[in-house]
Amino acid sequence: MKVDYLIVGSGLSALVFGALMANSGKTVKILEAHEYPGGFGHTFTMAKKYKFNAQFHYVWDCGPGQLVDRVLKKLDLSKDVTFEQYDPDGFDHMRMPGYALDISSSPQTLIERLSTLFPNDRDRLAKFINEVEKTGAGLKKLAPPIKPIELLKHSGEVVCAVQYLNSTLQDVFDKFRLPQAAQTLLALQWLDFLLPPNQLSFYAWVALFRGYQAGAFYPTQHFEQVINSLVDTIESNGGSLLFNQEVTQFRLTGKTVTGVQATNRLTHQTEEFTGDTVICNIDPQRAAKMIGIEKFSSSVRRKLDYEYSASNYMVYCVVKDLNLQDYGFGKWNVSHTGHQDLNEAFAQMYDRNDFSNPSFAITTPTLLSNAGGDCPEDCQIVEFLTVANYDYFRTLRDTDRKAYNQKKQEILDSILDVVENYYVPDFRKHMVFHITGSPTTNERYCWCPNGNSYGSKLTPSNMGLGRLNYETSLKQFYFCNASSGYPGFAPTFWTGTLLYQHLSGDLILGND
Ligand SMILES: Cc1cc2nc3c(=O)[nH]c(=O)nc-3n(C[C@H](O)[C@H](O)[C@H](O)COP(=O)(O)OP(=O)(O)OC[C@H]3O[C@@H](n4cnc5c(N)ncnc54)[C@H](O)[C@@H]3O)c2cc1C
Repeated sequence: MKVDYLIVGSGLSALVFGALMANSGKTVKILEAHEYPGGFGHTFTMAKKYKFNAQFHYVWDCGPGQLVDRVLKKLDLSKDVTFEQYDPDGFDHMRMPGYALDISSSPQTLIERLSTLFPNDRDRLAKFINEVEKTGAGLKKLAPPIKPIELLKHSGEVVCAVQYLNSTLQDVFDKFRLPQAAQTLLALQWLDFLLPPNQLSFYAWVALFRGYQAGAFYPTQHFEQVINSLVDTIESNGGSLLFNQEVTQFRLTGKTVTGVQATNRLTHQTEEFTGDTVICNIDPQRAAKMIGIEKFSSSVRRKLDYEYSASNYMVYCVVKDLNLQDYGFGKWNVSHTGHQDLNEAFAQMYDRNDFSNPSFAITTPTLLSNAGGDCPEDCQIVEFLTVANYDYFRTLRDTDRKAYNQKKQEILDSILDVVENYYVPDFRKHMVFHITGSPTTNERYCWCPNGNSYGSKLTPSNMGLGRLNYETSLKQFYFCNASSGYPGFAPTFWTGTLLYQHLSGDLILGND
């Protein structure tokens, strides 16, 4: 049966778009290659009792009246899907030998903490933090839907933001001549981008840094409930999600996309699906290759020419009879670096595959909500995340499986050595379960080309005016994913909602 919206992929932006459309009375069908919905945000169960979310850790824009809340209200989900706030006095705990900085929601408190650590640099640190505030305020005015009157009213902030269009975070650190250790502490949430300061867009850093300052959150009933609630909305409004359906071709008549061909991964049968409009939640570059890149306008072809963001290495871990709260963990993330220079730390791990002095993030989902259900009561979940090079792991896996497994173990040991040295002395003794995910694992289960983490690389050139959006230049065909919007939980809510607004005319966020 032909539906109004045929959606390829069930990542978060697709689920948000699909739920909004289904809720408005349109017929929606989603084809998903994996056996679970949610893409990077899917939840999987191990040993029949431990639940892990593939990639989400903490999220922003979920407080009352903020973007996610507004969309959930529209879907009548805001009473069921609720969020717990991270500690506003320190939602990110930055740690490196000799230094500790807790990032607070208040810019003034942050300036005070930095000034205590670096008393001789108080002025430049304060100027930097104030510039971040101003740039962030300007970026909000420059984000679609743009209101010209607002640009005029806030011209100071807008001009401040515009000057950094091509800047990396490092450029701005250098401009304000921040001490090296202060740079590292401020940028230690670099795992949220998987890019070091000398490559990372200042805009991307400011948006995320200020987003979390305005409130860092974790879903009360875990991420699985958020994803399931969106799926329920689609299904209860007559829509459907078909799993294990890998889309292999898009069907075109002239310049109009009319449907897709999909192969059932269990039965290996192929089937045709049609829709009045086709929404592409899979990587836009991959879809464009299936369609034929020459079919797109030159402007869209240019925007499609992005490099992928780096891949990652994850450890999903369960500890038993150990209360992590006794060891400095709580309603915050802990980010650790052994290296004082994050540019060098990144190069060592990503370019040289050397993890002897690792930089990584530690998250503790079971401490963020009392809801339980993700593991037995005498256990807690801990996850470790760092960067990893896709080509290196791919070659190892394809040529020498033993060496591939050894490398995964070597990184795990290196991280656990640091954990036992600095945080929890007997960590290994309490570890009752763990699995590690490499870049090829990411590719296999999240279906992301080259195991990429955030779609296109978050460099200034990819974050600027040439960034892809939902327009494809083909008819009845739209992109809707992190690379054609922005990566992250709230940004993919925004991406799906913006496309919904555009196609329905129903304004949730404001003028399109
Ligand atoms: C390591 C890591 C940590 C992260 N941490 C956070 C965090 O703490 N907070 C935060 O806000 N964000 C985080 N993110 C980012 C966030 O997870 C993503 O930006 C977001 O989930 C992307 O959603 P999407 O809509 O682009 O779709 P995706 O999640 O990319 O989903 C695309 C879907 O399409 C499916 N698909 C692909 N090819 C096909 C095909 N041929 N046929 C059918 N289906 C197909 C896939 O299986 C998948 O379900 C993290 C990401 C990573 C990698």
